[in-house]
Amino acid sequence: MQELEVSWDPARSSTETRITPKHENLVLRAPLAGVLVPLGQVPDAVFAQNGLGAGVAIDPTGNVLLAPCGGTILQVHSSGHALFMRTEAGLELLMHVGLDTVKLRGEGFNPLVQAGTEVVEGQPLIQFDADLIARKAKSLLTMLVVSHSDRIEEVKVLGDEDSFQNLEVRDPLIQVHFHSDFKKQKTTEVGVSAKLTKGELVQSGWILVQNPTGLHARPASIVVSLAKKFVSEIFLVKGTRRANARSLVSLMSLEVDFADQVQVEAQGMDASAAVEALSLAIRGGLGEKHSVPGSVPVSGGALPKVGGAEKSSECFNGRVVKGVMASPGQTVGSIFQLKSQEILVREEGGTEAQESARLSQALCEAKFQLETVSTLLKKEGDASQALIFDAHQELLDDPNLLDSARTQLMNGKSAAYAWHLAYSETAEQLASLNNALLAARATDVRDVGTRVLRLLEGVQDSKVLFPENCILVAEDLTPSDVAGLDRSRVIGLVTTTGGATSHVAILARSIDLPALAGAHDSVLSIPNGTLGILDATQGELRLQPTDQELAECQEQKLAHESRKKKEAQSAHDPAVMLEGRKVEIVVNLKGAQESSEALQMGAEGVGLLRTEFLFMSRETAPTEEEQLASYLPIVRAFGKKRPVIIRTLDVGGDKPLRYLPLPHEENPFLGERGLRVSLNRQDIFRTQLRAILRASLDGDVRIMFPMVSTLCELRQAKAILEEERSSLGVPAVSVGIMVEVPSAALLADLFARECDFFSIGSNDLAQYTLAIDRGHPKLAAQMDGLDTSVLRLIDLAVKAAHAHGKWVGVCGGIASDLQAVPILLGLGVDELSVSIPAVPSIKAQIRSLSQKECERLALRALGAETAAEIRSWTQLESF
Ligand code: PEP
Ligand code: MG
Repeated sequence: MQELEVSWDPARSSTETRITPKHENLVLRAPLAGVLVPLGQVPDAVFAQNGLGAGVAIDPTGNVLLAPCGGTILQVHSSGHALFMRTEAGLELLMHVGLDTVKLRGEGFNPLVQAGTEVVEGQPLIQFDADLIARKAKSLLTMLVVSHSDRIEEVKVLGDEDSFQNLEVRDPLIQVHFHSDFKKQKTTEVGVSAKLTKGELVQSGWILVQNPTGLHARPASIVVSLAKKFVSEIFLVKGTRRANARSLVSLMSLEVDFADQVQVEAQGMDASAAVEALSLAIRGGLGEKHSVPGSVPVSGGALPKVGGAEKSSECFNGRVVKGVMASPGQTVGSIFQLKSQEILVREEGGTEAQESARLSQALCEAKFQLETVSTLLKKEGDASQALIFDAHQELLDDPNLLDSARTQLMNGKSAAYAWHLAYSETAEQLASLNNALLAARATDVRDVGTRVLRLLEGVQDSKVLFPENCILVAEDLTPSDVAGLDRSRVIGLVTTTGGATSHVAILARSIDLPALAGAHDSVLSIPNGTLGILDATQGELRLQPTDQELAECQEQKLAHESRKKKEAQSAHDPAVMLEGRKVEIVVNLKGAQESSEALQMGAEGVGLLRTEFLFMSRETAPTEEEQLASYLPIVRAFGKKRPVIIRTLDVGGDKPLRYLPLPHEENPFLGERGLRVSLNRQDIFRTQLRAILRASLDGDVRIMFPMVSTLCELRQAKAILEEERSSLGVPAVSVGIMVEVPSAALLADLFARECDFFSIGSNDLAQYTLAIDRGHPKLAAQMDGLDTSVLRLIDLAVKAAHAHGKWVGVCGGIASDLQAVPILLGLGVDELSVSIPAVPSIKAQIRSLSQKECERLALRALGAETAAEIRSWTQLESF
């Protein structure tokens, strides 16, 4: 970002433009130096046609936007490119830096104020990087617009627009003339519902907003002008918040983003027509391209408010609720709705020092609680659960969260109010990022936030008395909710939000609790006590099952239990197929804490050590010694005869590290990820390679590179590895690549010449082949590693590897999927790296399979049209 060009001295701020409601005119001063451009010439119809109000544009030569008069900041857009303020005379002003700058998602903008800040004329509001915006956005033209108001008689531009006058900052620029009968009216507060007039309340169904950057200024202005054509009160509803559809500020404050759902509500004489017109316009994209219509019908008006992605109406047919499997399994129980507990928070507190001390004490206490939970879990050998509570402790030190709370304390707010606002805003920001992984982290922020809030307000963590055999239904669950569940009573989970990557899903899997995520919202209105079969494996909840369904379910459960028992007994025997072919069954590991469990379950080695877990949740990269200390216990636990494949760091884009700042990317999955990060940050890469090489002296260590997409990347990585190896003077190790990008599979014959093995990362391979975000809560169910396109790529890779005498493993999710295993073996895969609990069942299954049969099945699968067709051939329960 460039240096601030303007130094601001509050004492210099002019008072002559401070207009009280008694004044008839208001003068706005130039917020930027630059060239004055008539608003009509702005290459954006909404501005040019005064859709947002009257005003001017400036082609800036400066890089700091100043307040054109005194007033209050109403809203700063989360992308930092635009803000609304209310003048002291009650007018609303919009200042918008650049065109289409909302798409930069904050890059290049540094807002210097926030909602609620009282500003005086000349005060810096937004600093921006003019060079960057000029390169990346459509235009740098900056608009100052006075929102339409019945009180305005004329908005007069004082400068000479026609000769493109050069402006200095704070030159008189616009004069607003008020009607002489102007009386100060109370403006409608953002987010506060105005009283509805009499008449029936008419509501639309939920409408999926498909505008790529949500309802930003332009589409919102179209809603406003449409709403103004009706006499009824009209509101736009998002979740539990509603905004007056006639107020641009109110609408913008709803922060409706892409894929949010909104509802139109109206009350008054022409309410139905208003709802119909606005719904149609929003579905139609409000004049923006790339918008497709979509809505979720409201059933009987009882549908609760939703957050998260759209769920198709086909996902609920009255008796069957569909969702995404978060944790496998099948169970029968009665529905129990878990409602979140409301904590009342006082806004005003004691002195800043007192409130600050209270907050510090609550934070300390919360840390202590989390440490206790984590230690207990570690003692019980539940390391993966413990990691989540360790991460929660880190959140309590998050500087942004603490800064934002401190700002509120300085404004005289109580500790509880300040903290609540800080963590709720952070969670909302994360949830709105349109990134499934970060959205899942919003739940963690809320969870840890509520823990501190309870301590501050002295609210006991009310112990819910769960009925026996209940299937818990909730909009969302926090990791603390799941960890605190009474397992003797709760036998399954259903949530309307979340996905397979959430911490809740990980926890549910680790305690073997069937869980369904992303279920249709109507599940929240099922009465308590309703009987249901939760078949998480099939991604559905079947309500009011028939006697026959119940009997079948019970039968399956008994068979499942007795099968599990038998499988456990032979977990340490090799997985040998009927014709005598031995398949190597290894595991995916996150860290040393899982080694002993993996060995107990019969793992024959480690097929994938995801080293990124060692690099996450830290302030600095782990040193060579720290890494060695992490790798050695694993290598030693598996000994000289069991291979340990260590994958180099697979982060970047969607998985950022604090100490590895990467530029903001529009498509992080297509950006700096995996090996690309390592090649760009050779300091980190070389340190890791040295640690792995040193660990290799103690066992059968192999190195694997993630996200390899070109031969050049592989050669570069191997050359660096060789440099480090020779400088350490240790023997060479076997080197393989993850085949998880289609290019690697398509060029497998070339790659096979230059590495020792392949491991198919079917999670990413399916993501990149089908162009579906693997964590997408709505689309993830359509992404199946058994898709024919993915199988054909695996087939190519296996054939090429075998032609060069190299072996192929699979370490993605389908390796642990009983329906996929026969096909993978039929394609010739040599090794399966599976999740730890899956080892006994996969081994048992392989012992019953014939290679010939598998080959026939694989051949048929390569010609199938869909993954669903392939899955329909085998009625095996997937793990
Ligand atoms: C995969 O992509 O299938 C894989 C195993 O890697 P990860 O899930 O760690 O990206
Ligand atoms: Mg991967």
